Amino acid sequence: MGGKPSIVWFHQDLRLKDNPALVEAIKQGGAVIPLYIWELSEEGEWGPGGASRVWLHQSLKSLDMSLRARGSALVLRRGESIPVLRSVIRETGADAVYWNRRYEPHAIGMDQQVKTELRSNGIHAESFCASLLFEPWDVRTRQGTPFKVFTPFWKACLAAPDPPFPLSVPSTIPSLKHRPQTLSLEDLRLKPQMEWVQGILKAWDVGEEAAHNALLRFLKRGIGVYSKDRERPDRTGSSRLSPYLHHGELSPRTVWHLVSKWREMHKGGVEAAQDYLRELIWREFAYHLLFHFPETVSAPLRAEFAAFPWKQDRFGLLAWQRGKTGYPLVDAGMRELWATGWMHNRVRMVAASFLTKHLRIRWQEGARWFWDTLVDADLANNTLGWQWTAGCGADAAPFFRIFNPSSQGERFDPEGRYVRRWVPELGGLPDRWIHRPWEAPASVLNEAGVTLGKDYPFPIVDHAMARTEALEAYRELRARNTFSTGTIQS
Ligand SMILES: Cc1cc2nc3c(=O)[nH]c(=O)nc-3n(C[C@H](O)[C@H](O)[C@H](O)COP(=O)(O)OP(=O)(O)OC[C@H]3O[C@@H](n4cnc5c(N)ncnc54)[C@H](O)[C@@H]3O)c2cc1C
Repeated sequence: MGGKPSIVWFHQDLRLKDNPALVEAIKQGGAVIPLYIWELSEEGEWGPGGASRVWLHQSLKSLDMSLRARGSALVLRRGESIPVLRSVIRETGADAVYWNRRYEPHAIGMDQQVKTELRSNGIHAESFCASLLFEPWDVRTRQGTPFKVFTPFWKACLAAPDPPFPLSVPSTIPSLKHRPQTLSLEDLRLKPQMEWVQGILKAWDVGEEAAHNALLRFLKRGIGVYSKDRERPDRTGSSRLSPYLHHGELSPRTVWHLVSKWREMHKGGVEAAQDYLRELIWREFAYHLLFHFPETVSAPLRAEFAAFPWKQDRFGLLAWQRGKTGYPLVDAGMRELWATGWMHNRVRMVAASFLTKHLRIRWQEGARWFWDTLVDADLANNTLGWQWTAGCGADAAPFFRIFNPSSQGERFDPEGRYVRRWVPELGGLPDRWIHRPWEAPASVLNEAGVTLGKDYPFPIVDHAMARTEALEAYRELRARNTFSTGTIQS
């Protein structure tokens, strides 16, 4: 074996396939030390929430097993990154540290500090692009500025050279004879001690192998009907790959190239594949925005929205979080989220719109709740999703487009199967009333065994009234500002 040992510092890239940092470390010819450092205080205001930590626990376990199968093992440490890296370097004689980049504002700052510190001590330090298809600074408008509108961004990505092919899984990973000390996974205390954790573990297979199986299953059975079914929460219409992409068990390049290959082999599948690749580019767009406008994690991209008259409504927020708003589609989504750590995209939009427009609660409150309960909680995607829905972000849905939760339910869950699954107390209602139980005749409610106000709440706000009030608040905001937003449709 040649050179000195190299450290591979894992973050949100918990995989062996298409891992440029790992491949580079192996190339050096010495032993490779796979290292994961857990230090919540370095994650800024956005340390992984409860559901993400459950996922992280399982994912680190799975990564360690994959490493062991190739003659290596994961070293786990706690503490601030620079002192921990220094001590692992000292203990092992490593002369290089490699890692795959993250793009969250706090992570960018950390990367720079670590590079400066290591390089000034004669250690080779290098980071790689592995969690995105394109670097956020490489995609630019003709004027050289960042994009704020999706379609031109998408076109610019399509015009760029194809993302590189994914790297293979190394067959062996050279290891030190005396492995450095490691903490046990339990020492990191990632998993909250709550019954709630069990629901998440039951709903998901975590880890790189599970991620690939999910992708292959989607290519075999899902992608062909993606264009037709992706908006349907009552069907398995989307890929459910978001947590794997977020934690880096699956690289976007792997997904991109396998979907592109599928498109070549299925002449009738061009539209489905294109629709799917477009969603992957929404993810890129979210990172592009996060990189260029890092303040948007807590402030609206459209600054005039900072003066929007949000309400303080503790009761409304609690009802929303618990899935007890009286609007079945919203409640089904919020309960799915609590039970499994995931929610369908269409329902995320409806639930987020309900919070910000019907209840007029600040989008940041909703973003925080999602952050803590989603297994795919992702600073870039979550920020984009909330700002888009609230009407204050890039390429946002106009504020005046207020989803009617009942008609959204009737359109995207026409037989009420999704609602029946997550709001079983409404299970006996006929399809006609499942999305608007308060309008059902007493005899129908009786027969279904539903007493409103007892088994299931009355709507906490009236849709028409809430809509009028939200539009009025928006008109006032517009009157105070001179921004152009199109016409209010009433
Ligand atoms: C209010 C709100 C909050 C959101 N928070 C998050 C979040 O924290 N993490 C997260 O990954 N997604 C978030 N999204 C985006 C989207 O809802 C999820 O990515 C999607 O539901 C994941 O399911 P899927 O993997 O089956 O998606 P698919 O339809 O199969 O899409 C494939 C992949 O493309 C990406 N993608 C899809 N839609 C979007 C989108 N609108 N924006 C950015 N990327 C997208 C995801 O990585 C997804 O896994 C949010 C959306 C909204 C409206």
